[in-house]
Amino acid sequence: MPKFVWSICPYCGTGCGIKLKVEDNKVVAVEPSKEHPVSKGELCIKGATVDKVINHPERLKKPLIKKKGKFVESSWEEALNLITEKFTKIKETYGSNSIGIFASAKCTNEECYLTQKFARIVIGTNNVDNCARLCHAPSTSALAEVLKKSAMTNSFEDLSQSNCILIFGSNPAETQPIGFNRLLECKKYKGKIVVIDVLRTSTADKADIFLQINPGSDTVLVAGMIKAILEEKLESKKFISQRTNGFDELKKSVEKYSWNEIEKITGIEKEKIREIALLYAKSDKAAIINGMGITQKTTGVENALCLADLMLLIGHVGKPGSGINPLRGCNNVQGCCDMGCLPDLYPGYTEITEENIRSFEKIWKVKDLPIKTGLTEVEMIAAIPEKIVCLYVIGENPMISHPNLNEIEENLKNLEFLVVQDVFLTETAQLADVVLPAAIFAEKRGTFTSLERRVQLANKAVDPKGEAKEDLEIIILLAQKLGFKDSFDYKNSEEVFEEIRKCVPQYSGITYNKLRIKGIQWPCDEKNPNGTKFLFENDFFGGKKATFYPIAYRKFEQKNDYPFYLITHRTLEQYNTGTFSRRVDVLNKIKPENLLEINKRDAYKLSIKDGDLVKLISEYGEMKIKVKISHRVKEGVVATANHFTEMQVNRLISSELDPVSKTPEFKKCRVKIEK
Ligand code: SF4
Repeated sequence: MPKFVWSICPYCGTGCGIKLKVEDNKVVAVEPSKEHPVSKGELCIKGATVDKVINHPERLKKPLIKKKGKFVESSWEEALNLITEKFTKIKETYGSNSIGIFASAKCTNEECYLTQKFARIVIGTNNVDNCARLCHAPSTSALAEVLKKSAMTNSFEDLSQSNCILIFGSNPAETQPIGFNRLLECKKYKGKIVVIDVLRTSTADKADIFLQINPGSDTVLVAGMIKAILEEKLESKKFISQRTNGFDELKKSVEKYSWNEIEKITGIEKEKIREIALLYAKSDKAAIINGMGITQKTTGVENALCLADLMLLIGHVGKPGSGINPLRGCNNVQGCCDMGCLPDLYPGYTEITEENIRSFEKIWKVKDLPIKTGLTEVEMIAAIPEKIVCLYVIGENPMISHPNLNEIEENLKNLEFLVVQDVFLTETAQLADVVLPAAIFAEKRGTFTSLERRVQLANKAVDPKGEAKEDLEIIILLAQKLGFKDSFDYKNSEEVFEEIRKCVPQYSGITYNKLRIKGIQWPCDEKNPNGTKFLFENDFFGGKKATFYPIAYRKFEQKNDYPFYLITHRTLEQYNTGTFSRRVDVLNKIKPENLLEINKRDAYKLSIKDGDLVKLISEYGEMKIKVKISHRVKEGVVATANHFTEMQVNRLISSELDPVSKTPEFKKCRVKIEK
């Protein structure tokens, strides 16, 4: 008789509920869960085919050690001994800060928590980070600055009752498809969906209003919206005086822009900007959603700050169907950040201060925790070999996901020691000295936190393939071998979770027992024993006022030699670096290759036809790619996805970073095209 085991989809942050059908210790099918509060019996094509990933023949089943340039299978004992010896020697020779750790936003909260604890206690460094750095770190920085909390303020459930949803630079129809279905439900209540994007996406196709803006003009578009709201005196004076600071500075910053300038920079007529501004301002419940079109930029934090300004101007926060809601990518990127896998924050977003460090030393019963802020993922790779000589990469694939891949490849090859722990032999794992085979989500028990702050318990359905082990077990074994038995003495994930409750105030009221099918949205504590559907009802974090930030626009200079803007994006059938989705035949059949979308006028000027092979060249690299003439891009803009190892578009992307969040610029790369 088959059994059904409750779990959570491992792809995107929507966190859909799945039932794994198990026969003879094998997952034979995936079914949606009707009881789940967000997915309600639906799954997208990636979630519905995830059993093909669990059972894929290329799963890693034994540790691998590179000897004379080739991988050789080894025992766990040999692999862990080698890592222990190398980590110890590197620490002694170069110091703790010469080692960096990449945490995985696909691992459970318990595993993420132990990853940062391993970095801080065992290695003695704050060099620990996760892939949020590549996508939503600007949202995190901006919301932490303005609201003192960084997460989606509301829930899919209450957004489905919104009267107006503004979607900035996000394509949830493809990146969070089931979450998008919940947003579409607002139309039942006569809600309107407005999409503002550089690309005419599948989400734009379903919107009531779509504004196709010029690349890099997001802040000016929002300045225009704020200007229109102020001209109509629709700002909420009560909310501004009671719950905010800095309104006058915001007003002055907006007054600097004339309507002529706004129209010219954004490429959108004044009347259209006024229309969406007044719709947002006059709606009873109105929400803002943002995606990586806003954040994956050198101006990512400024972009996210101006969205918060817009929300505060009307006071569309602290009530159902409102707020500001970054749609985060990976299934546990929220949890990975909550757990403190960040170089500047301990668990629960605790700032690194003497006082806070002392309190963690008490809880963890250790001394001398590192106080120096660590390096981000991108900084760690850039610091090879001068400052960083060793990386321990858990469940990440920087050889596809990071910008400027030519430089990344060269730097990773220059490491003295690289350990990769993953489910498959990824492009990054191929460069490693030691590869540790990890269990996949269906082979372990633990919690994942979805993008709407919903902490959910996933159960173990089957045993790990071959000799693969849970990341939790691997980290514990390594920590113990390195002499930290007492600090890493856990029987199971629930014991780790009990410690998390002491370190992460937002999780203090959550227990495994409470996390039935619906999960719980943090904060869940003494004040909110059943969790919190939406944030900031009565006040902002710590009773503080939120702050308006003046709108700042930084012009991005186009270069004559590189006349096109390249935008990278995601597709429904593939996912991130393709580690999972590229191994599913049905997904590859639907989306077999990467194409470069180009406007028909540009194609005409370059004498390019559909299907032609062109060379796409930036200052950092080049690639060959087939062309698709498309109405989705404006003149001067080309677009392609980033999931394909055969066409690594990130080889073209620069290493320029947002100065605050250190997030790379993936959305506006200067390129030229040669036939
Ligand atoms: Fe999985 Fe996201 Fe699809 Fe849901 S929407 S099934 S979480 S990939």
